[in-house]
Amino acid sequence: MINHHVYEKLIHITSEKNVMVNEPLKSHTYTRLGGLADLLVTPETYEEVQQIVKLAKEEDIPFTLLGNGSNLIVKDGGIRGIVMNLNKLNEIRTEGTKVIAGSGARIIDTSREALKQSLTGLEFACGIPGSVGGALYMNAGAYGGEIKDCLESTLVIDHNGNLLSLQAKDLDLDYRTSNIPDKGYIVLEATFALNEGNYDEIKAVMDDLTFKRESKQPLEYPSCGSVFKRPPGYYAGKLIQDSGLQGTQIGGAQVSLKHAGFIVNIDNATANDYLQLIKHVQKTVKDKFGVTLEREVRIIGEDIE
Ligand SMILES: Cc1cc2nc3c(=O)[nH]c(=O)nc-3n(C[C@H](O)[C@H](O)[C@H](O)COP(=O)(O)OP(=O)(O)OC[C@H]3O[C@@H](n4cnc5c(N)ncnc54)[C@H](O)[C@@H]3O)c2cc1C
Repeated sequence: MINHHVYEKLIHITSEKNVMVNEPLKSHTYTRLGGLADLLVTPETYEEVQQIVKLAKEEDIPFTLLGNGSNLIVKDGGIRGIVMNLNKLNEIRTEGTKVIAGSGARIIDTSREALKQSLTGLEFACGIPGSVGGALYMNAGAYGGEIKDCLESTLVIDHNGNLLSLQAKDLDLDYRTSNIPDKGYIVLEATFALNEGNYDEIKAVMDDLTFKRESKQPLEYPSCGSVFKRPPGYYAGKLIQDSGLQGTQIGGAQVSLKHAGFIVNIDNATANDYLQLIKHVQKTVKDKFGVTLEREVRIIGEDIE
């Protein structure tokens, strides 16, 4: 249900064009599924972000942060209260060997900016479809690199709306985790400390990683990337493949035939299709190999009533 009083306050903080009512979240997620957000707000300045966080607290209204929606499953009942997306805070600039990116910039574009400046260290991120904020949240990584290797510092606001400047070590970055969810930080900006390199060599690495990704991942379908974390000593994709699960389909969601670690939306899947298929995969792998597959992808929102 829309809170009109909160809507009025939001358009006062930012502007009418930045506040959407009953917005379908399937338009904002890589899986192309999810119900409606009561209010989706896309602030344009750090001050607006601060004021929106304070408003949600004052009004005691649920608040959810959405990045690029590439590591999320939003349930079919959607999300109540305020959903905030920072994709308008997407400036990327270079200072010497540092690249400074707004949290709503794509990490892919940040990696391309580093290439443009012949700076090495962000090549691994050239195909990760998340935002800078989302990449810090889960210490995104690929092909031997991760955010932890090159992040120097970050500007965040805490759950009370206070602005904090933190060093990378303050985020406890580890394999696909950070303390951002526990602390309730909202990342506004990240500074990556890179090294001078050779343009052609950096480009060659990025081209090679792009080729590997395109040949191995089902990028032709909507998905949320790898659904499960790598269990210690195993590969999730291999366990799923060896369980004979590739091609298994529930509704419109299917365990990818190209990469077993992915679940793809091949035919107007619902979030419920996805969730059932995730449970089925977890149970089958547990029964067959005794290994627990922990989800990498986050599930948010409400079930349909
Ligand atoms: C085809 C495909 C390939 C992928 N390949 C990889 C890969 O190689 N390596 C990898 O690590 N991941 C990969 N992913 C997963 C995904 O891209 C990353 O997890 C990415 O970091 C998620 O960022 P996002 O902006 O999309 O976050 P979202 O999915 O929108 O959100 C994820 C979480 O981050 C939080 N968050 C978002 N922005 C902020 C912010 N500004 N401040 C605080 N919290 C925030 C959200 O609240 C949410 O809890 C892939 C996904 C797809 C679809």
